[in-house]
Amino acid sequence: MKTRCKKKGATEMFLHIAKIYKTFEFDIAYNDFRNRYHEAAQYLDERDSLDRWTRAYCPKTRYNIMTTNRVESINARLLEERKLPIIALLDSLQKLASSLFVRYRHGSIAINTNLTPAIEGILRSRFTDAQGMQVFELGHLEFDVRKHGHSAIVDLQSKRCTCRVFYIDRIPCAHAIAASWLAKIDLYDLYSEYYSTMSWCMAYSETVYPVLEENELPRNINFPLVLPPLVEKRVGRRKQNRIPSIGEFSKR
Ligand SMILES: [Zn+2]
Repeated sequence: MKTRCKKKGATEMFLHIAKIYKTFEFDIAYNDFRNRYHEAAQYLDERDSLDRWTRAYCPKTRYNIMTTNRVESINARLLEERKLPIIALLDSLQKLASSLFVRYRHGSIAINTNLTPAIEGILRSRFTDAQGMQVFELGHLEFDVRKHGHSAIVDLQSKRCTCRVFYIDRIPCAHAIAASWLAKIDLYDLYSEYYSTMSWCMAYSETVYPVLEENELPRNINFPLVLPPLVEKRVGRRKQNRIPSIGEFSKR
């Protein structure tokens, strides 16, 4: 989209509206975006349905992730290795995976909070937002939470709030934090277990071993016949970034 719409502010507004939680708020913001950046909106409409790039219309559980940065960074690390033959590529992948697992294993073991540092940071900021909110009990674990004339309905049992932050992120919103104080519920019971430091440690607890020489492998392994994958062959030459030759440089 950056290349399609060069108008100032388009990317920033796109990133902002993609992260909106409520569908009606998204609809209003996207209409405004469409009026300001018609070309960009047309490109988005033609390319992807709303459930692919908006938080508000995504039918799946996204947690608090709205980027593919991690995939991109792995791709960037393997830019050269991708050109290698398959065995050498697998060897590079093992080295990369192993070094990342070691780094994150050491990092996660050193943490002594219930939640990962990033989520503890979100908790602190929402904790501050929750200060001064008025909480009224409605029903069993249901609360009306108000601040500056705005009201939100929190259900601590189903872990939902009308602001949608609690359910989509699986992290309590400021309203839920305020409600938990009145309900005397431990805040740490309201998070998804995936945000816990324990889950973080578990994710990197396995060892990624290198592949041994063939004669060092156990004798009882059955080697299945591995056929090449069925792929559709693309027409034309494969696109690849390449370094210009000396001759090409001298023509410039
Ligand atoms: Zn809320």
